Amino acid sequence: MIKWFKPTWMVESIYSITPAQLEKNNIKAVLTDLDNTLIAWNNPEATEESILWIENMKKADIPVIILSNNSDQRVKLVADHLGLDYIPRSLKPSRRGLRKAQEKLGLPKEQILMVGDQIMTDVLASNRFGVRNVLVKPILASDAWNTKFNRFIELKVMNALIQSDPNMKWGDSLDEPIR
Ligand SMILES: [Mg+2]
Repeated sequence: MIKWFKPTWMVESIYSITPAQLEKNNIKAVLTDLDNTLIAWNNPEATEESILWIENMKKADIPVIILSNNSDQRVKLVADHLGLDYIPRSLKPSRRGLRKAQEKLGLPKEQILMVGDQIMTDVLASNRFGVRNVLVKPILASDAWNTKFNRFIELKVMNALIQSDPNMKWGDSLDEPIR
């Protein structure tokens, strides 16, 4: 049961994930959550940091798709600014959005990585669909009202995960998988 909630990696920030780390792990495309993963949940636009990270991925020919449970209006604004494809209202932990993204990419699951800040949506959806995933620390400590309940459950799940596996630790790269 607990395995469904266990991320492949735990990395402090999406910005520390590099094309070299992706290549080393045979990852050809990245799906990323938007709120509190790529930018703060209450930021209406792309930040300098996110622009630089995306530019780096583009230079390395690594497609990035935003996969968010948020509204089309919210996601489109940021995605357009960053020049990215996006899937709004993806209903994570449903596999639907991931399936759509995989169809767009035309890549096998083994070559796709999902990055997100929530176990109950991002990690669970990835594990159900069967792609490797990275849990990142939320950019902002506060959350939108509809995330607060998930965070409460998440704390309990995280405690159980740490008890089941002492290797569950935050790192700063994809070099050491926790499983
Ligand atoms: Mg999020």
